[in-house]
Amino acid sequence: MRVIGLIGGMSWESTAEYYRLANELVRERLGGYHSARVVLTSVDFADVERLQASGDWAAAGELLAAEARRLRAAGAEVVVLCTNTMHKVADAVAAAVDVPFLHLADTTADAVRAAGVQRVGLLGTRFTMEQDFYRERLADHGLEVLVPDEAGRAVVHRVIYDELVHGVVRAESRAAYVDVMAGLVARGAEGIVLGCTEIELLVGAEDTSVPVFPTTRLHVRAAVAWALED
Ligand code: GLU
Repeated sequence: MRVIGLIGGMSWESTAEYYRLANELVRERLGGYHSARVVLTSVDFADVERLQASGDWAAAGELLAAEARRLRAAGAEVVVLCTNTMHKVADAVAAAVDVPFLHLADTTADAVRAAGVQRVGLLGTRFTMEQDFYRERLADHGLEVLVPDEAGRAVVHRVIYDELVHGVVRAESRAAYVDVMAGLVARGAEGIVLGCTEIELLVGAEDTSVPVFPTTRLHVRAAVAWALED
């Protein structure tokens, strides 16, 4: 089994899910006492959040590239960046190592296309919903991407930073997300990309009438498939 390298801490609430899911999937595949071979590096999210807020993406890229090198030195054979938002600096992270980098938007798009869906609604941080780096990567796979209106984007972003990254899951916030997703479906979305690694803690398939694409789970599945490939 190959060693999966996780760059986590953004936030640790979702990184814990990456670790749990990787082990569950390996157990499902191999049974017995098998568990995932993982090296994990976990940053202080306060450092990353400060760089996001100030728009210093170059420094953020250097910080995460250093983490990728740390993983490589520890034996990682694939690098997984456990956040949608920080894929803004995916190129810097991927360039820092000589092993594959599993881009989260690619693993998501593969699953969307496999489901026969072409037009998706995207939920995530403002960075993910409003900037090009993520939407265009999905579009490169032939997908059409809808994002919520300004009020919807504001509530989705606020719940991520004020609640989910702190491990707070509130029924009122779930209801707000359900409304935002319904709005996207009314505008023609055939599926919803849960494009933030903490969103799966709040909503799931039961909260909307169209298929949901949980990016954390899909990312881990791709990593485990790669780790177990002969
Ligand atoms: N984990 C989130 C994401 O997937 C948001 C936190 C962050 O900004 O990294 O985008």
